[in-house]
Amino acid sequence: MIASSALKHYHCSMTIRKSLMRWYWFTILGLTLIFALGLMWRGPESDYTIRNVTLVVLGLFMYVVLALKFRCPRCRASLVTKSASILHGRPCGCPKCGVGMDELID
Ligand SMILES: [Zn+2]
Repeated sequence: MIASSALKHYHCSMTIRKSLMRWYWFTILGLTLIFALGLMWRGPESDYTIRNVTLVVLGLFMYVVLALKFRCPRCRASLVTKSASILHGRPCGCPKCGVGMDELID
C-alpha cells in the first residue's frame, strides 16, 4: 500500500520529457540486446535466415513500440519530429496542443 502510493507520487512528479526519455532508452536497450543476441547466435549455416528474420522482426517491434509511445500524453500527436530537441533537453512543446515537454504528466 505504501509502495503503490510512492509509485503514484513518482508517476505524478514525472515530466513529459522524462517519460519520453524512458521509452527512448528502453528502445535503445532493447535494440542493444537484439544486436547482442545476433552476435551470440551460433548455429548451423542454414539457421542464419531464421536468425536474420528474427532479428529484423524484433528490431521492427522495438521501432513500433517507440513510434507508439513517443506521443504527446495530452493530444496523442506524434512527437517523433521533436525527438532531437526532447532528447537534448532543449525547451520545446507539442506541435499540436503546445504543451511543454517539462510540464508534469497529469
Ligand atoms: Zn499535444
